[in-house]
Amino acid sequence: MNAQDYINREERYGAHNYHPLPVVLERGEGPFVWDVEGKRYFDFLSAYSAVNQGHCHPKIVKALTDQAQKLTLTSRAFYNSVLGEYEEYVTKYFGYDKVLPMNSGAEGDETALKLCRKWGYKRKGIKENNAKIICCEGNFHGRTITIISMSTDPDARNDYGPFTPGFIIIPYNDLNALEKALKDPDVAGFLVEPIQGEAGVFVPDEGYLKKSYDLCRKHNVLFIADEVQTGIARTGKLLACDHEGVRPDILILGKALSGGVMPISAVLADDEIMLTIRPGEHGSTFGGNPLAAKVAIAALEVIKDEKLAENSDRLGKIFRDEMKSIKSDMIELVRGKGLLNAVVVRPKNGKTAWDVCLAMKDAGLIAKPTHEHIIRFAPPLVINEAQLREAVGLIKKAFKLFE
Ligand SMILES: *Cc1c(COP(=O)(O)O)cnc(C)c1O
Repeated sequence: MNAQDYINREERYGAHNYHPLPVVLERGEGPFVWDVEGKRYFDFLSAYSAVNQGHCHPKIVKALTDQAQKLTLTSRAFYNSVLGEYEEYVTKYFGYDKVLPMNSGAEGDETALKLCRKWGYKRKGIKENNAKIICCEGNFHGRTITIISMSTDPDARNDYGPFTPGFIIIPYNDLNALEKALKDPDVAGFLVEPIQGEAGVFVPDEGYLKKSYDLCRKHNVLFIADEVQTGIARTGKLLACDHEGVRPDILILGKALSGGVMPISAVLADDEIMLTIRPGEHGSTFGGNPLAAKVAIAALEVIKDEKLAENSDRLGKIFRDEMKSIKSDMIELVRGKGLLNAVVVRPKNGKTAWDVCLAMKDAGLIAKPTHEHIIRFAPPLVINEAQLREAVGLIKKAFKLFE
């Protein structure tokens, strides 16, 4: 089979809910992946920042295979010997009283929304079925019906209604809008991405997170951070909220929590919030399974052992400087934090970000446009400086083709 055969088979038998770049991968190691023809690429998507620790990290894979031979799933109907170890580890790691383990990022967000509403009724005293949650234009929190009810992206919403009520949508990076929305006494929470990843790596003004947090505190509203994409060292700190010294009331993690090995998400909060959910009121068959518990511990250990936040911070600065130095009229703007960056592409002679991505693929680096005119650059955080500089050379080479 050649690459086209693989592509045709997916087209023939799979739902058409994605539009992949035409590259068929079969192996990965660290910052690299190889296609079925043996060609090597720098992976500059990292599965949307799930593979922060690099592809097939040996320590994480070992945790997976060791535990897979002992016990993989018990359900939460019974206790198991490793869930508590993980719960203790992850809560101490991020500094919260409790964790609620789930699988996908969307489930993490759903859990946070339910927890927030529960807290609103049980603790804040909001009247039954009246709780509201504030969210932001341009958000991405996943794909469930409730989550897309918050979305402002027509592709995510169209023909999926009716939608879940109870959301107030305000512009991102707009403190006045937040302050106004917070005047409603039925507001229980403010859900926000510290940097909007899917929207195109929108970095809010400095101080936005801290001031938002302070406003929430003042109005007795929970500050909920969706760090599914920005968390776990991606932006040069353990959490993107750490850049402003903000400790979210509810923290949502996913993606790199497993190093890309399996879907693992988590919601962290203190007792006052987390214990409002009681037995039987929320759960997941696979959430907190022994395999996930061991994998997540290993994935988090790698972040600290290999100082990936520090690496991300240092190499991110080099990357943005290099991108800004490219002389191409197709590059409109470079932005980002740590190794979560984006280049806004100005179309030229009918050529768009998609064409640039195809050219980069041919050069040996894969990335994907988000929203047509933006290319996100987010390599695994294990990439070293020499590799990063080599990758920058490939990106420059690709842009040169359009001069
Ligand atoms: C990817 C993502 C999600 C959803 O995660 P899934 O595992 O795809 O369900 C939620 N929030 C943010 C910020 C994300 O980037």
